[in-house]
Amino acid sequence: MSALEKPAISSEDGPPGRDGSPLCLACGFCCTGLLHAYTPLRADEVELVRAHGLSLDPSRPEPSLAQPCALHRDGRCSIYETGRPRTCVRYSCALLTGFLVGTVSLERTREIVRRTRELEVDAVALLPPGLPLERLNRELDESWQEREGFLGSPARRQEHARLLLALAILHRYLARHFLPAKSKEAASSP
Ligand code: SF4
Ligand code: SF4
Repeated sequence: MSALEKPAISSEDGPPGRDGSPLCLACGFCCTGLLHAYTPLRADEVELVRAHGLSLDPSRPEPSLAQPCALHRDGRCSIYETGRPRTCVRYSCALLTGFLVGTVSLERTREIVRRTRELEVDAVALLPPGLPLERLNRELDESWQEREGFLGSPARRQEHARLLLALAILHRYLARHFLPAKSKEAASSP
């Protein structure tokens, strides 16, 4: 897996421990398309999602929510307290896990979230107008073209290189702080 590819959200249990909501409500990167391309659902969660007026991701063979999740509104999950899918409740990225088990302070998590936002802004500033970062991320995941890239017209080659560098820095930072160890190993393999 390349450094620019992202795994799907896993529905493995996160660790029990401290209340993670101060971190997660200030972050949301596992909902916005920055970390994941989709959110897989259990079969018994499909009705819950439909009750919120959402459609399933048509590009996925299994029931999934497309990311960015339409329930992420005004910078946070709009159903966080009232009933997120269990996949979301049970998911824990490396940063949340570190916070829950006490190896990373809340202050440090806030620094990391803030720095991630800065790197995201840097990358978004280099995107062509009308191309959202999550769409580029999805295209990078699904159909990277070795010779041409996505924006590889000759006139755009320099901007393309700067954009890919900004994306590589962003994804390296994400891999370092958010992806579980197993994904980090996969992301660093050729
Ligand atoms: S800290 Fe991790 S689990 Fe919590 S919202 Fe951010 S990416 Fe998701
Ligand atoms: S339901 Fe809430 S927690 Fe789950 S992906 Fe959507 S915004 Fe994130």
